[in-house]
Amino acid sequence: MTASLPRPEPDPSVLESLARELAAPHLAPVVDLVAYPVKDADRSSVVVRNAGGAVRLWLTDAGQEQHEVLTGRDPVGRTDPMAFLPYRLEQADPSPDNERNAYPDPARRLLSFFADADRSPDLVVVHTPRHYFPEAGGHRGEHGSLDVIQSRAPFLLSGPGIEAAGAVAGHARTVDVAPTLLHLAGVGEEFHRDGDGRPLDGRARTDLAVAGAGQFVIGLLWDGAHCSDLLHLAATGELPAVARLLAAGTALTGGAVAEFPSVTLCNHTSALTGVGPGRHGVLGNIFYDRRQEERILANDETTWHRSAEWLRPSVATVFEMLDRARPGVVTACLNDPIDRGATISTMRLVRSQGGENGARDLAAVLPPAERSPYLGQPSHLTNRYYRWCTQVDDAGLTQILELFADPTRKAHWPRLTWWSAIVTDAGHHGGGPRSLVARDSLRDADRRLGALLAHFDRLGLTDQVTFLLTADHGFEAADETVTGSWAPTLDAACRRLGVAYRDEGPGFIYLTR
Ligand SMILES: [Zn+2]
Repeated sequence: MTASLPRPEPDPSVLESLARELAAPHLAPVVDLVAYPVKDADRSSVVVRNAGGAVRLWLTDAGQEQHEVLTGRDPVGRTDPMAFLPYRLEQADPSPDNERNAYPDPARRLLSFFADADRSPDLVVVHTPRHYFPEAGGHRGEHGSLDVIQSRAPFLLSGPGIEAAGAVAGHARTVDVAPTLLHLAGVGEEFHRDGDGRPLDGRARTDLAVAGAGQFVIGLLWDGAHCSDLLHLAATGELPAVARLLAAGTALTGGAVAEFPSVTLCNHTSALTGVGPGRHGVLGNIFYDRRQEERILANDETTWHRSAEWLRPSVATVFEMLDRARPGVVTACLNDPIDRGATISTMRLVRSQGGENGARDLAAVLPPAERSPYLGQPSHLTNRYYRWCTQVDDAGLTQILELFADPTRKAHWPRLTWWSAIVTDAGHHGGGPRSLVARDSLRDADRRLGALLAHFDRLGLTDQVTFLLTADHGFEAADETVTGSWAPTLDAACRRLGVAYRDEGPGFIYLTR
């Protein structure tokens, strides 16, 4: 067995040199920000640099964000989580340059990102919103950055206990999702704690909901659903099921601010544990664990069912927190990897029936996409990801309808159900926000939600279900003329400085010597 080594502290001057080279003006079209942690005796801080300047960020004991400009202009000086609202402001200036962009909570989010001793990289490089990098897995629509639009997920509550206020100004955070679900299920704050009994990073939105008013709580995560476009389409009659939830509920126009990086598995985990990546340990979709000497591919159909292996020991999922408060309560987690503690879960099925390739081994049992009654535009099936998502989401709908099929077993229905749907991610990657394919993906998801609402209507139970609809991140459109890579610069700089490195993520730079 390999002896576990403490994380080698990289030479601060090496990090600074690397950051300066990566922030050079010739890379400015593709590099929005470079950030690295700085530790000294009295506090942890983060330096953020780009071609325009550098700033050092930290939090006071009271949690107040501090910005000390080191040179030039503060690259994350605008932090307004309500930036680019109303929506026409975003549409008028999509994928903005750094000077006009906004970065909510940069200190808190970056400090959490750099807080895992074994898994946080030494330095992170963040793409500009316009950067198009198909050679490294990029798409026409992208997310992952620190900026406000890629970090803005919807946050909509609806049903018993929620005021029918419609869309209102305000914002939440993705880490608020788990405590808010507990509050909706009537669980008091004394149970909103991690496995070590420490308070969560997020807080229950008690200002928006009466505790425990609905008999059943359903959390819906529409992967990558663009907050403002979702609310816009609902308001213009294009998403009738979301509009119905909105008519009986409250949506925050600033949505939920995702944790950094604004990528899928980091934020599914943040939503379902109520803590940021520095505590839950799922740093991204792909990251490196120095202690295990292992590259972890967390967001992959062959590994989703193993997610519990990556959660840090102190983490509690929303299902575990609910069970602590109400031992024996029934909970369900549909099509989400972060299922630990759920009574009923898709990934458990994968663990028991799939082979070593996990969900991939069960692909053959998914319903055929061509026959999906919820698919609006069959031509999107030429996109293989859209096709597969259509199958998975149809299977998700079947699973949730089965959970609530038999009213004579109502006493055994889940108190809390979480259903993750993914076609919205395929649509937004395929064309970027507001594209035909992105909007069609929202319409498809809306038809599935409509089928679920119709089912509760038939049972006469709609007014007993409280919904929370959110996502894991937002999206911005890349510009196909803005190409290039920081890799040659990084490579040359590391060679000159005599350090070896790994670039995971991409953009997570781990110095290996
Ligand atoms: Zn996602």
